[in-house]
Amino acid sequence: MSEDNESSPNVCRCPDCGTARVVHRSKRDPIDRMSKSPSSVIAKWMGGKLYHCIFCRLQFYSTRPKAVLPPEEHPLHPGERPPSAA
Ligand SMILES: [Zn+2]
Repeated sequence: MSEDNESSPNVCRCPDCGTARVVHRSKRDPIDRMSKSPSSVIAKWMGGKLYHCIFCRLQFYSTRPKAVLPPEEHPLHPGERPPSAA
């Protein structure tokens, strides 16, 4: 049993692919595309935070909290190590 809440409906999700595996961003990246979905526009208007989908590189706003993901899972590919592990 894991205690992650990735499957919870109350966490922020990518409006494009629906994943909860998003990262918080302090400012908008001019290269990556920005979501024009009504939920993102409303969330921005309500003072929501900026998030970035790690899969489709979409930026969007959400007032929901970021999902708590299990620590053993990370976006690195199998066999790939973080630079600090060398
Ligand atoms: Zn996505």
